[in-house]
Amino acid sequence: VFIEVTDILRCPREHEEAYLVLVPHRMEGRRVLAGVLGCPVCQAEYSITDGVACLGPSGETAPGAGGVARRAGRTPAYDAGALLAFLGLEGKGGFVVLVGGAALLAAALAEAAPGVHVIAVNPPAGIAASDEVSVVLAAAGIPLKSRQVRGVVLGEDRAAPEDVAEALRVLLPGLRLVVEGEVSLPDTATVLARGGGVVVAGKVA
Ligand SMILES: [Zn+2]
Repeated sequence: VFIEVTDILRCPREHEEAYLVLVPHRMEGRRVLAGVLGCPVCQAEYSITDGVACLGPSGETAPGAGGVARRAGRTPAYDAGALLAFLGLEGKGGFVVLVGGAALLAAALAEAAPGVHVIAVNPPAGIAASDEVSVVLAAAGIPLKSRQVRGVVLGEDRAAPEDVAEALRVLLPGLRLVVEGEVSLPDTATVLARGGGVVVAGKVA
């Protein structure tokens, strides 16, 4: 994981939102390859192994790099260029989160949006971490603090109402969410476009 990503991670347990304390064991440039993330609220500890942050239940053994998509990822019905347009991403900086099968486009999106860091949450097997892509595994939800990221894309395997709620929580106000599938959205989102198997929505500011 990119060291700046560790600043916006949160403990996935249900308690007040708190930062995690990073103890890096091995770094390569600005990537943390091995280390421990500690929660100051509940004292849970999460490992970073082979560059992948595993925010599963404390004590759970880390799955292999590449992670645990609920279903084998199917190639999304759009490409990285379309995602850039859906998300309205312009300019450098910040983070975009791809959840589940949507993370198949992690490397392509990082290439199409230089300077934007991609966070792949529970990606399908075979999605590798790199300087531009961080891989984060979590038992549930999106283990990031609220109002941190410039865009979220939910793959069809992660498009349940609770996934949409998590995506809206981590998004910065006014920015966009892309969901694969025919989902209905809460009042905190405004639908901007619907078609071709995806919904594009903005988070109400
Ligand atoms: Zn905690």
